[in-house]
Amino acid sequence: MFKINENYNRLTDSYLFSTIAHKVDAYLNNNPDADLIRLGIGDVTLPLAKSVVEAMTNAVCQMGERSSFRGYGPEQGYDFLRKAISDHDYAARGVDISPDEIFISDGAKSDIANILDIIGLDNSVALTDPVYPVYLDSNIMAGRTTDLHDKSRPKIVKLPCMACNGFVPQLPDKPVDIIYLCYPNNPTGTTLTREQMKAWVNYACKNGALIIYDSAYEAYITEDDIPHSIYEIEHAKRVAIEIRSFSKTAGFTGVRCGYTVVPNELAGLSNDGKSIKLNRLWNRRQTTKFNGASYISQCGAFATYSSRGREEIQQSIRYYMSNARKLREALRDRGFEVAGGINAPYIWLRAPEGMSSWQMFELLLQQCQIVVTPGIGFGSEGDGYIRLTAFNTHENTCRAIERLNSLII
Ligand code: PLP
Repeated sequence: MFKINENYNRLTDSYLFSTIAHKVDAYLNNNPDADLIRLGIGDVTLPLAKSVVEAMTNAVCQMGERSSFRGYGPEQGYDFLRKAISDHDYAARGVDISPDEIFISDGAKSDIANILDIIGLDNSVALTDPVYPVYLDSNIMAGRTTDLHDKSRPKIVKLPCMACNGFVPQLPDKPVDIIYLCYPNNPTGTTLTREQMKAWVNYACKNGALIIYDSAYEAYITEDDIPHSIYEIEHAKRVAIEIRSFSKTAGFTGVRCGYTVVPNELAGLSNDGKSIKLNRLWNRRQTTKFNGASYISQCGAFATYSSRGREEIQQSIRYYMSNARKLREALRDRGFEVAGGINAPYIWLRAPEGMSSWQMFELLLQQCQIVVTPGIGFGSEGDGYIRLTAFNTHENTCRAIERLNSLII
């Protein structure tokens, strides 16, 4: 009988969203008329920008004509989109990233997991706690383990992000090889200052480490002094891969398009001590295992860089961020400790002393008919917290605030 990949047996089942669904179903069974407000959703709700719809409609029409039909595109993405990203997301911020350092994908999640193909299994990995779960699970799938008793395997190091350190991970006390950073952060909604980011880049330069920088929520930054890209920090091109997505920037969760930057300067060591460029390895990986993102999605993504497209997607972001601001302020006024909501569509709320994430979840469901995400789902340091999102409508966000104002604890 064939064997399965044993690494998958090491994963802990993620019951978070099914447990939430069960609890909500049970509540609705007992309260069929309940008017639930879902503030747990991590998905956008506004429709695509008109300019994106037009660009994708036009692309579909091109595909329907013999003269303009396109089959397989370049595995790395179309030049028109790579160039637009280089100009608008980087050059406009004073960062020099050339189109050949940009690889278009079908979204950030796949790249986050796939990037491990080009990284040695012996490396140790540092992750924040709480964390976007894909970083942890994809490492376990690749064969890294948290099993501290299995000394033959590299450990996964957790970097606690708590109220007492402002949800900013401290540099590890032992050298690590790979570091995942996600800013603006999911789930805490917090950011790193330029100085804090500089400390991580310096750490990576000093220790020969690689930073995998996930900036899926970059477009939500409202404060001027917060870096949008890790490459705004000197020397970062030597040590960092940056992964971005059109999902939250332009509502592409159902369209699928993202990109990964692998700078030409970035190199790792082979077993025989040679310096090998990661750009070449990633290109090799993509040309073998990926046939490119859809032409239609890439045309849609390209439209977000037109002046009309930019204004339209900013409008949606402003809409969500006005929900975030209202929620944050209302919760603060109500006496809750909250993080996030200023440069991210997420609010990380601390439950009253002694209350677990699930107890707070139940309280909000029973008393306010509000559904949130328990922080424990993002790691043990998330217990005692819940995550609220700004992705619902203005109307529902305001109704939720009214209900939260009458919450009795
Ligand atoms: N990175 C973070 C931090 C996310 O929160 C998400 C989605 O929720 C992703 C990546 C995935 O993005 P995509 O839709 O591009 O796969």
